[in-house]
Amino acid sequence: METQQLTMLAEDAPPPVLPFERKADYEQYARETYGFSKDWHVFRWEAKGADDNKFIVVTGAVVYERFKRGKHVGNLVWKSRLRETEVPVSFRDDAFRAWILKWEAETGKCSKCNGSGQEFSGWSKQDGVKTRDCTRCKTTGAAP
Ligand SMILES: [Zn+2]
Repeated sequence: METQQLTMLAEDAPPPVLPFERKADYEQYARETYGFSKDWHVFRWEAKGADDNKFIVVTGAVVYERFKRGKHVGNLVWKSRLRETEVPVSFRDDAFRAWILKWEAETGKCSKCNGSGQEFSGWSKQDGVKTRDCTRCKTTGAAP
């Protein structure tokens, strides 16, 4: 009986979760500005206004569950999000830009690629995330 339980646990074990990374993105800015935990994730992004009145609205929620197997392994299970934590928050785009420069000064990394040297170039349901050589740091990953 005990052996069987151990086997089941091993099969159901989630994939190794990467250590939390403080990324230079809207999600992390919202966490730090509004005091959300690292388990609060953004699922909607909107840009509003123009010129001197440009601001960003992001909506997120706390999600703990991730897919344990299949082609989406490691990804968040959005339908399990805690509905009571689902809120939109807004902030000025120039405040976000100032935070990005501070982030680069603190980490020494390029904010466009989060230090990886590869920037986001697109996403499709079929192929997932696509990347290309970072245009800001020229693939060095260092803050310019
Ligand atoms: Zn870069």
